[in-house]
Amino acid sequence: MAEQDPAAYPKTAACACGGLTVTVSAAPQFVHACACLECQRSTGSAFSYSAFFPESAVKVGGAFKSWRRSSEAGRWNEANFCPTCGVNVFARLEALPAMFCVPVGCFSDPGFPAPGNLYWSSKRHRWLDLPTGIERIETQ
Ligand SMILES: [Zn+2]
Ligand SMILES: [Zn+2]
Repeated sequence: MAEQDPAAYPKTAACACGGLTVTVSAAPQFVHACACLECQRSTGSAFSYSAFFPESAVKVGGAFKSWRRSSEAGRWNEANFCPTCGVNVFARLEALPAMFCVPVGCFSDPGFPAPGNLYWSSKRHRWLDLPTGIERIETQ
């Protein structure tokens, strides 16, 4: 597949089986990565990489299940995932009520903007060095 124009919208994020999609009509308001241990566990990877869109720019297609965990700050963080393949395609955060958080990998778009910062840098894997331009934030 050819690389998409990073400035082209709408874009669609999808789970592995394609049953759950999130279509966004505008560029993300911000993009970040987070290396907290909860993000490591929920992604199965060294950090999460997420884009945040206003609710008004988002359309969800297909069935999903939801699961809430508590953040370090004691607020809920809700993962919404495909009931067939289990991939998390969007999250809602109590701290950001009008926003949808979409895991960037679900867009299958290597041209997607880089994260502006890495939260919980203090918990990042020791091998993980970051290019300049990504601000490291030790905690949240
Ligand atoms: Zn699926
Ligand atoms: Zn995190």
